[in-house]
Amino acid sequence: MTAALDIVITKAESSKLNDLNLENIPFGKYFTDHMLEATFEDGEWSSVEIKPYQPLSCDPSTAVFHYGQAIFEGIKAYKNAAGEASIFRPYDNHKRFNKSADRMSMPSVPEEIFIEGMRKLVEIDSDWIPAKKEHSLYIRPFMIGIDAVLGVKPCETYKFIIILSPTGPYYAEPMKIYIEDTYTRAAPGGVGFSKNAGNYGGSMKAALEAKALGYDQVLWTDAFEHKWLQEVGMMNVIFVINDTAITPSLEEGTILEGVTRSSALTILREMGLKVEERRINIDELIAAYHSGALKEAFGVGTAATVAPIKEFGSSNIKMELDVKNAVVAKEIKRQLDAIRYSEVADRHNWLFKI
Ligand code: PMP
Repeated sequence: MTAALDIVITKAESSKLNDLNLENIPFGKYFTDHMLEATFEDGEWSSVEIKPYQPLSCDPSTAVFHYGQAIFEGIKAYKNAAGEASIFRPYDNHKRFNKSADRMSMPSVPEEIFIEGMRKLVEIDSDWIPAKKEHSLYIRPFMIGIDAVLGVKPCETYKFIIILSPTGPYYAEPMKIYIEDTYTRAAPGGVGFSKNAGNYGGSMKAALEAKALGYDQVLWTDAFEHKWLQEVGMMNVIFVINDTAITPSLEEGTILEGVTRSSALTILREMGLKVEERRINIDELIAAYHSGALKEAFGVGTAATVAPIKEFGSSNIKMELDVKNAVVAKEIKRQLDAIRYSEVADRHNWLFKI
């Protein structure tokens, strides 16, 4: 982009909102009246539009269908009791999006499109943010390579798109987790830290096989020994061992740097727990479980915020946790909700006002 961003806005003739009850709406099923679409060609972003939500039309040879240059983000906007809307930590998602873009040899998206475009889109569709606790507007920015030509190489043309979906409460039932011993999500040097579509396509078989064994999700382990712990399903994982919160570290590049993870670690430190970001393996977890030091384990992510874990298992392991006393997990969720719905001061400056 050279000059300041001009967003061309075309409003929908009527709103679909009148046909919808925003209470207890299922995740990802309904989309708002408008979308943002920007095009990258000739080495720059141009033609940024907000327009009525509509299908995309593209050639069957479009590169993303074949070679997978596709990345995305997941962010939420909330409305407080006074009806004011804010987006939770969108700058962190913007940073992560551009890291994903770099790893997938895609262009970065400038702040004036990602943040200001998102702000404008959410403002236009702000009636779609349910003004209710546990409800939010899910924001899905994504980018795809759109060259209509076969051949494995980075595209020259891309679309950056933002769509919005109102969402209701996500009841995070305590999870039963399979310690993955066959499949791998990410290896050093790979793409685990990026939020690219292929990571999700590649994870489904492991999740399905774990479900068939009666589990809700998998605990991803390293590619070589299936011993070093990474993430739980599509969430980062935190273990409370005595008065220390331990979460796998990011430096190997095998873990997505979650925005909820970062927020939870800040709150844990404020609660007076020690926080350790480091390598942790299954033997340490088993030893902590048997000595009674493993107090809690939970997943953290935008969808559920905090999801307690009630059991870890595999062919020869079974560890059951007392989720009724998972006070740390509950407190993180309580504090994050209080900030998001402006019930307390936004002391970390996490809310971006619309
Ligand atoms: N890990 C993976 C693989 C994910 O898909 C997500 C969800 N984006 C997370 C962790 C949690 O990230 P965040 O807190 O930013 O939603």
